[in-house]
Amino acid sequence: MNIQVLGAHNCESQSSRLISLLIDDNIAIDAGGLTSSLSFSAQQKLKAILLTHQHYDHIRDIPAIAMNFALHSTTINIYSIQPVYDALCTHLLDGKLYPKFLEQPQGNPTINFTIVEPYQTEQIEGYDILAVPVNHLIPTVGYQVTSPSGKIVLYTGDTGPGLTDCWEYVSPQLLITEVTAPDRYEEFAKESGHLTPNLLKQELTVFQELKGYLPQVVVVHMNPRLEKEIEAEIAAVAKALNNSISVGYEGMQLNL
Ligand SMILES: [Zn+2]
Ligand SMILES: [Zn+2]
Repeated sequence: MNIQVLGAHNCESQSSRLISLLIDDNIAIDAGGLTSSLSFSAQQKLKAILLTHQHYDHIRDIPAIAMNFALHSTTINIYSIQPVYDALCTHLLDGKLYPKFLEQPQGNPTINFTIVEPYQTEQIEGYDILAVPVNHLIPTVGYQVTSPSGKIVLYTGDTGPGLTDCWEYVSPQLLITEVTAPDRYEEFAKESGHLTPNLLKQELTVFQELKGYLPQVVVVHMNPRLEKEIEAEIAAVAKALNNSISVGYEGMQLNL
């Protein structure tokens, strides 16, 4: 299983892209920096896009990729929870901001949207996909993706502390999660449903107690302006837990 980090940040600039991951060139998770990272031909290889939640930094490129598929007369499969479908219908793809790609063309809409139910494994393109609720400001699911050869990655999406319930349902070899800000922003992180290095350390300690091991960890969704601080604190957490924890970056390739 190959996982590419297309977008690793929560803010966009010339040097940072919004959150997007790509698995084996055909399954994307979150669409913050999807069209901006992929050629037209790479976009056409996408078989499915999984969305964790409806915050703009995670769905930004959905209208753009839908337009590219529409102009290519092809369809794209998108999976997420009901609130994300509702938000796309009533906002980005409402016929005012952009065409109603969830409904048009009639009978064979450009976006083939499937509502996923938490805790129910779906078979998508040969992968087992399990949506697991996490602890963010609005309904959000992480996705555990199991490849046909049994490799397992979990991406939590945006989450604050309180992942004990989530850990019960998963057994990843690679955990991709978020650290938005350094430790001095702990109060902000708790209020807005995000993690700091220290909050991540607490969640990983619970994981280890529950599961008896720690997966390789990669963090994403950093605020680029605070990244140096985050990097230093993550290095300290990795040392304290004696585990591989890296800070993700655009173009990072992970192989399981
Ligand atoms: Zn969010
Ligand atoms: Zn976000």
